[in-house]
This record gives sequence, structure tokens and C-alpha cells, in this order.
Amino acid sequence: MARNGLMIDYEYCTGCHSCEIACKQEHNYPVGRGGIHLSEIITERPDKSLRIDYLPFPTQYCNLCLPRTTRGEKPACVKHCQAATMYFGSLAELAKLMEARPHSALFTPI
Ligand code: SF4
Ligand code: SF4
Repeated sequence: MARNGLMIDYEYCTGCHSCEIACKQEHNYPVGRGGIHLSEIITERPDKSLRIDYLPFPTQYCNLCLPRTTRGEKPACVKHCQAATMYFGSLAELAKLMEARPHSALFTPI
């Protein structure tokens, strides 16, 4: 059976936290727990200006929304991503999408 995952094209992530909120609501996680966590990464460019990237990464509590995806629905975080920059699918499908997305990350939480 094909293994599934999440791919995030973080070039377009705005850091809005909607994926975190959607996950918490879907799973009714208590305060301090969630299936996805947003990181802010600040780096300095050669000209000394700052670059800020946002990268959400699934935690050990992510089950890839199995009840939803077995019904044919998108994971909650993917459905509610405000920038439509999260993708769910088989690793082969996601790897193909990544070829045209230089700032992307692939996660296989389960
Ligand atoms: S796939 Fe589901 S469980 Fe995993 S981070 Fe997204 S909303 Fe949470
Ligand atoms: S919902 Fe989408 S745009 Fe907002 S923080 Fe999550 S991945 Fe980024």
C-alpha cells in the first residue's frame, strides 16, 4: 500500500497559524498539544537584511487525519490552509509536486 504524507511549499506560508488551529479543532487537543507546530526561521542575507521563513511541521500527534482521508476528505490542516500551500497524497505524488517547488518540505508522520 502506498505511504502517504504531507508536503508544504513553505515559500508561500504566511505564518497565519490556521493549520495549527484547524488541527486542534479537528482532534480536540488540549492546550499545549497539537498535530502541527509552526516555526519561524530568521536568517541573514549576504547584504545583512533579514529573511523570515515560516515552516509548519507535523508532530508525534499527527495521524494524517486518517478518519477524514479514509472518507476521501482532505486533512483538516490542508483544507484550511489560508495560502493553499499544503498538500496531502502518496509520497510519489508529493515528490513529483516538489520538483517544481524549490522551497518545500515533505513529512511522513506515520
Ligand atoms: S494531517 Fe491532520 S493530524 Fe496531521 S497536522 Fe494536519 S490536521 Fe493535524
Ligand atoms: S495555514 Fe498555511 S499559510 Fe497558514 S501557517 Fe499553516 S501552512 Fe502557513
